[in-house]
Amino acid sequence: MTTPYSIALHGGAGTIARGQRGEAAYHEALQRALAAGRALLEDGAAALDAVVATVVALENEPLFNAGQGAVLNADGAHELDAGVMDGASRAAGAVAAVRRIRNPVLAAREVLRGGRCVLLVGEGAERLARERGLELVDNAFFATAHRRAQWEVARAGQPGAAPLLDHDGRMLAEGGSRLGTVGAVARDRQGHLAAATSTGGMTNKAAGRVGDSPIVGAGVFADDRSCALSATGTGEHFIRACLAHDVHARMLYGAAPLERAAREAIEQSLQPLGGVGGLVAIDREGRIAMPYNSAGMYRAWARQGEAARTAIFGIDEAAAG
Ligand code: ASP
Repeated sequence: MTTPYSIALHGGAGTIARGQRGEAAYHEALQRALAAGRALLEDGAAALDAVVATVVALENEPLFNAGQGAVLNADGAHELDAGVMDGASRAAGAVAAVRRIRNPVLAAREVLRGGRCVLLVGEGAERLARERGLELVDNAFFATAHRRAQWEVARAGQPGAAPLLDHDGRMLAEGGSRLGTVGAVARDRQGHLAAATSTGGMTNKAAGRVGDSPIVGAGVFADDRSCALSATGTGEHFIRACLAHDVHARMLYGAAPLERAAREAIEQSLQPLGGVGGLVAIDREGRIAMPYNSAGMYRAWARQGEAARTAIFGIDEAAAG
């Protein structure tokens, strides 16, 4: 017996102003990435393959803070984090602080496949990527003029300035690119869940800093008993709140429905710590929740037999594609 698939993605959260120039291009980019994962689900592929394909498409889109187009750290370099999790087996894989892997989410999946560890960092992760035939690039490959402008504004003459969410950096850097961390969640036709998250982190972050995106239970999580979840926002707060696991626990132990669990986790666990951001999540019935406490969150979603939709602010302005 098969169940209807569902899929949702995000392109980051933060201080986003309405009516910015080029908004249509971002809706289109979200639609394209969703279509990549959706096509696989339509063919009966596993949720894990669908979320990885979606996140690869987002990493390859320079508008987003993941893969090419990633933000710069305090040293003016790119260090990328990514994580994946399979809800059926609860197997997970992640890479962090990698500088040369073109598509970090593919390396995260190789870590999952290897099954010997969950999180590989730096050179060890790059060695695995090379062994598995993944493409390695120079660190400069990830650079864009927009990100450098954001970085320069974020530092504003003070190299020690606090790290910024990508969107907040864009607000400061006139004309800078606006999008952020990316992630996807899916339920496949077999009823299994999966999640993937990928990021360049926060503008002007310390060298070696790892955010929530590759941390199981913080920025990425999947368990067929509850939900699959990908987060975006101020990573340290998501780690301290164990945000993804908080949603899972509210569902599994507190019997909360997804929508309530996700909203209350943001309001009651993240917000009191001063955290800002949001998440996309999907439950085993294929229901989707996308709460955020930032000004906006780039997102897209689709259910089997329904039109794909994209939104940045309230659901009222969601665009169907
Ligand atoms: N959560 C990411 C990090 O802290 C940043 C983001 O979501 O934009 O690395």
